[in-house]
Amino acid sequence: MKIKTQSVVDTAHYFLSQRVSIIPVTKDKKPYAGFSWDAYKKRFPTQDEIDIWFRYVYPNANLAIVTGALSKLIILDIDPRNGGDISLLKNNKSPSVSTPNNGKHIYFRPTNLVKSAKHSALGYDLLYEALALVPPSLTVNGAYEWINSFNRNNIEEFPKYLLSKLELIQPKQNEASAKPLSQKKGNQKTQLRGIEVRHARDYPLDRLLLSDGVNLIQRTNSYHLTCPFHSDRKSSAVYYPSTNLVYCFKCSRAFNPIDYLTIAKGYSFREALKELTE
Ligand SMILES: [Zn+2]
Repeated sequence: MKIKTQSVVDTAHYFLSQRVSIIPVTKDKKPYAGFSWDAYKKRFPTQDEIDIWFRYVYPNANLAIVTGALSKLIILDIDPRNGGDISLLKNNKSPSVSTPNNGKHIYFRPTNLVKSAKHSALGYDLLYEALALVPPSLTVNGAYEWINSFNRNNIEEFPKYLLSKLELIQPKQNEASAKPLSQKKGNQKTQLRGIEVRHARDYPLDRLLLSDGVNLIQRTNSYHLTCPFHSDRKSSAVYYPSTNLVYCFKCSRAFNPIDYLTIAKGYSFREALKELTE
């Protein structure tokens, strides 16, 4: 058994810095009940979300990366239990992981050909817009361990000859989903980023909520409230003064004062900044 060298939360931050989308998953490799991870195919989690998930909400979580267009990753999953040959591409330099079932994940840059391919050979699978566990995740069967550690610069393009070798065939494509609203807002945010944004984010969220008549129920280090983003009868959301963020356990959304004004109350980004910095 190898010594765990880096914590899950640190690894999650590292992946984010490498422009890889990640989410917490259970010991059974599944998303937590009520956690809708589809959003993280379209946008990266924020640093705050990562801290909230892995430090507070799911402190024992495993770590999964979300493969696909956003992360610019496709993974070849080789399962020797079904006849997959893990000695395939033995000398490649691309990031790769050994799995608890003696299998192997090899990371590639997706090409159009590969994106639309579908596996048919037994023992091989292509993970695209899918979840893949990464070290230091642990399951009852053992640990995920790096063979070649993850570095964006080392990711090779998917070798074309493998498509026919692994009998990967061309199905019809179902792509082209519109850019989500949150992503457009994100671009706007980066342009306007600055001291003003930081001040606005630091505006006490509890004061903002209280002035809107939101009922905050005090707990030891947090306050419970009903989530403003959906009909919520159970006070599913929690305000953490330490991070000045609200996290909703039902819809898995985290929000700061700017998000609250823009998303819940319909302010434009500029209007929200004005409101919060005056
Ligand atoms: Zn919610």
